[in-house]
Amino acid sequence: MPGELSPENRIRIEVDRALCIGSGDCVDTAPEVFELDAEDKARVIDPDGAPTDVVIEAAGNCPVTAIFVYDESGDLYP
Ligand code: SF4
Repeated sequence: MPGELSPENRIRIEVDRALCIGSGDCVDTAPEVFELDAEDKARVIDPDGAPTDVVIEAAGNCPVTAIFVYDESGDLYP
């Protein structure tokens, strides 16, 4: 099971901080969902901050595939 899902999109988003290079593409695509923290690593601020397709787009824009999205049936991205 994918763990706790967000109330609206019914997804869970994880950022692999070891992979993240702080490019900010995810923040550019979905600024209500992701932000860069003090270490220039992306973190999730609100998994429901944009429609799921925009979250997927943001994950797809990550140059190092550090964003993982899950829904009730398992892996949504990648
Ligand atoms: S797009 Fe990927 S590498 Fe860039 S800040 Fe977001 S998670 Fe990190």
